[in-house]
Order: sequence, then structure tokens, then C-alpha cells
Amino acid sequence: MDLRVALIPVGKVDVVEVEAAALRLAKILNKAVELRQPAAVPRAGDDPARGQHLAAPFLAELRQGLPRLAVQKLVGAAPAAAPVAAGPPDAAIFVTDVDLFRPQTEGVFGEIDAATHSAVLSLRRLREAFYRRKADPAKQRSRLVKLALYALGRARGLPECRDPSCALFTTTALADVDMKPEKYCASCWRRLTTGAYRI
Ligand SMILES: [Zn+2]
Repeated sequence: MDLRVALIPVGKVDVVEVEAAALRLAKILNKAVELRQPAAVPRAGDDPARGQHLAAPFLAELRQGLPRLAVQKLVGAAPAAAPVAAGPPDAAIFVTDVDLFRPQTEGVFGEIDAATHSAVLSLRRLREAFYRRKADPAKQRSRLVKLALYALGRARGLPECRDPSCALFTTTALADVDMKPEKYCASCWRRLTTGAYRI
């Protein structure tokens, strides 16, 4: 498989947290994951009255700035790995602290755009603190990893999966995310790694 996945922190998001997720992703994908330098928080989609950003324009602005963000680290690569080749990744997943929403929703975990193979995930609703519960960093990381797997599949044009034990199963509620394992089913894995599925 030669799938190049980039993870990009947005604004003042904790880079250590993003790198930990990148490392886990690299293990699951059996492929090093690019950690790019942080992107600035987009102004697009800002809704001060709601204290949130509208997800689609937020992602569009992030995607536009991607070529300017250098690869800082190849997470999960062998120490003697070759320098990172230039060029766009096959999928770019931005991670933000900003709370996102879509019209008709209170808030969302993120936004995915298959046309540009990109996605943005918000940590806000993955934190136990958001639900007034005690912080649980391990759970939070696992949620980010599962959503990143979901976003990666969808950004590569795969449909949602009907298998509840697959990362591409629906992620409407936090309970859906917590129930899933950190992996794809065999069929989705094949589609993702061989590019057998294209829209
Ligand atoms: Zn599946």
C-alpha cells in the first residue's frame, strides 16, 4: 500500500495529542503517517454568536492552505527512513479544538470532503469534559483514532459500512464511536488499500 496520510494540527491544538493519534494510525495502517506543521485557525465559517465554526467553509480554507504546510515528522517510520518526498498526501486530516457545526445540527465531530480527499476533526466533542465528566485521555485518543479512520475511508471515497465492528460504521453519536474498534473490516481494508472502490 502506498497511501500517504497527513495529520495536521490546527491552531493551538496539543501537538502531542495529535502525534499520539498519528502513531496509533501508523500502526493500524502499517504505514508511516505525515505530521505536518500546524495550520492557522481559519476565519471562514466563524459564527461568533454560536461560538462555533461552520464546518464546510472551515475545512475548505484549511485545505487551501495545505500546500504551504511542510511535513515536520514521519510518524511511525523507521529511524533511518528516507527524507519525505514533496507532494500532496492521498488524504489530509486536520485536527482542531474549535467546535464545529453544520446547518440543522447542534454540533458535529468533523467534516469530510471526498472531492479533495480531506477532512477536519474537532476534539471538542471527544472530550469527557464536554459532557461534564472526568477527563479520560486514553478514551479521547481512541475516539480521535477511530474518527480519523472513518474520515480517511470517507475522504478516499469509501461509503459507510454496515458492519458495526468496522471503523467505517456510522458515527452519528459518541456511543457509535465508543462501540467501534480501532480497525476496518476486511472488505473496507481491501477497498482502501487497493483503491478497488472509487466514486
Ligand atoms: Zn467495513
